[in-house]
This record gives sequence, structure tokens and C-alpha cells, in this order.
Amino acid sequence: VLTPTGEILDAAVKERHGAGAFNVVQLEHAEAIVAGAEAAGAPAILQLSENTVRFHGALAPLALATMAIARASSAPVAVHLDHATDPALVHEAVALGLGSVMFDASRMSYVDNVAAVAAVATHCHRHGVHLEAELGEIGGKDGVHAPHARTDPGEAHRYVTETGIDALAVAVGTSHAMLTREATLDLDLIARLHNAVPVPLVLHGSSGVPEPDLLRAVEAGLVKINIATHLNNTLTTTIRAHLAAHPKDVDPRRYLGPARDAMAAEVARLLTLLNR
Ligand SMILES: [Zn+2]
Repeated sequence: VLTPTGEILDAAVKERHGAGAFNVVQLEHAEAIVAGAEAAGAPAILQLSENTVRFHGALAPLALATMAIARASSAPVAVHLDHATDPALVHEAVALGLGSVMFDASRMSYVDNVAAVAAVATHCHRHGVHLEAELGEIGGKDGVHAPHARTDPGEAHRYVTETGIDALAVAVGTSHAMLTREATLDLDLIARLHNAVPVPLVLHGSSGVPEPDLLRAVEAGLVKINIATHLNNTLTTTIRAHLAAHPKDVDPRRYLGPARDAMAAEVARLLTLLNR
């Protein structure tokens, strides 16, 4: 069932669960994530990043296919545009009917970030679309996702009030594209942000967090948990093993099939963990 992102996050807040958000790069990702959500009996958020849109050269083909997969699912599934920096792309996502957008103005100054995000928020809210955003560079060149960056609770409260956003991505110790689980989450800061900020908090770069810490972070107040690299690792490792064992296979279904199954099982396991 195609479900508004806000509904999935509201339910997660109420039940003190983590809302799993997983990146879609190709059709098989969407199929795997939805199969995993159905197996776990839990909601899922399917995300297409601006980088993925650039890779395909367009938003509509994969976004519309992902929404069709979401509609056909028995699980509540939302479709989200992740890390958009181009307002035109946000407008296209809103027109296509995606449930939410993350607008990334983190490279701008505070004042410009607030102005850009507030303008996007007005457009999104006019169409019932949920908006996530983030503050700018605090401790590194990877915006709030640098391992040493930290979101200040006072500034976060002010930012949410001034922009009118519905969810806030926070810097609490993770970074993007981590292949090892060695990120150290600042649980005390998560609790302080949870008290200071009136909207759900989002963790990017969750692939680098040891799973027990991920659960502690949800207990401390994180809601939307973005996991991309970990599942790409599952998918690609399965493909690599299959091709090594079957060097004569050329039909993509021969290796994408088992890779999709492995990813679905991993999504089901993660969602079971986040929703217990
Ligand atoms: Zn991110």
C-alpha cells in the first residue's frame, strides 16, 4: 500500500520504533525491500537519491516503477526522494506523487539554507508532501554526515521553526558509505536533540553503526533510519559469489535473482530489529 511518509514516521514515533528507509538504485532493490517489509510485517520507506536520478538520467522511470511496486504491496510503503539539491527535481517528485523529499541545502550558509528549505517546504506542504532537511557543515566537508560533525540542539530547534520542515537529519556520529560498523553514536546528544526538536530525527549513514547501538539510538529518540550501503554490500557480495561460482552465466536474472532474495532477507531482518 503506497503510504504517506508522515504516517509511517508518526506511527514509529507513537510505538517507539525505528522506521527503516532503504535506497533504491534499480528495480530489483525496490522489489527486495518490499518483499522484506512484507516478510517482517513492517512498514518501509523506499528512497531514490538525486545521485541515482543522475545515474539513470531521469527521475520518472524508476520512481513510477517503485510507486507501482509500493501500491501492489501488502505492507505500508512510502516513496521518498533523498538528498535533492535541485528545487526543480523536488517539484518533479511532488508532481509524480512521491510521499516525501529530503532537500539538502547543507552546503549553503545558515541563512541561505533556511531560505531555500522554507521555499521548498511551502511547495511540498501545498501538495501534502513531507519534507526532511539538514543543517550545514559543522565539522567536516561531508555536511552533517562527517563523523566528527555534531548538530547543536539549540540551532536545530531554531532551524526547524524557521524552515517549517517535518523531519530533521542530524549529525550524531555517522558518515555515509561506511563498509565497517565502527561509527560511535553520541547517544546523549540524540536524547538532547529529541527533547529540543519537535519533529522526527533522521539518521543518515546507519550502515556504519553496530546494531545494538542502532536500537539504543531509537530508544534515545531517532526515528527514520537510512540504510543504503549495507544492503548494496549484501546485493553485490551475492552477485560476486554467484558469478565466481558460475562463470558462464550471462542472463542477469541468474545473479540478480539470488541477490534480490539475499537483500530481501536482510531487509526483513533489519525491519524486525527496528520494529520490535
Ligand atoms: Zn544521507
